Amino acid sequence: MTFVPAPELARSHGHHVRLEGGFCSSSGCGATTLPYKNICSACGCKMNPHVFEPRGTVLYTTTVVTPPPGFEERTPYVIGLIELEEGGRLLAHIVDSGTEIESGVRVEGVVRRLYDRNDGGPLHYAMAFRVTTRS
Ligand SMILES: [Zn+2]
Repeated sequence: MTFVPAPELARSHGHHVRLEGGFCSSSGCGATTLPYKNICSACGCKMNPHVFEPRGTVLYTTTVVTPPPGFEERTPYVIGLIELEEGGRLLAHIVDSGTEIESGVRVEGVVRRLYDRNDGGPLHYAMAFRVTTRS
């Protein structure tokens, strides 16, 4: 999962959390990359920046029951490998959907607080996904 500390988020993306990657417009290629890379690994051409629509399909999931520090309050929680409709794959939290999530279900992105260090500092937000249709 990619997360962005709030100050960095504000500097780089305004108030938006989005999925920034790359798209290869070289003739016949069409490869995608997430996150963005300068060079297409399929054909070697320069990639174009692309903001992916946060919709896709769950490929695999795992339920986390022993979380890292800062994630205790949400345990158990689900992490899924998601294939976006436009190409590209990412690991993300799957929220609002319970822990019984089957491969193949459709998901959409939602912005959620990732964690709070409880130190009075900034909150951290990230793109999470929720199930939209069951298979
Ligand atoms: Zn390419």
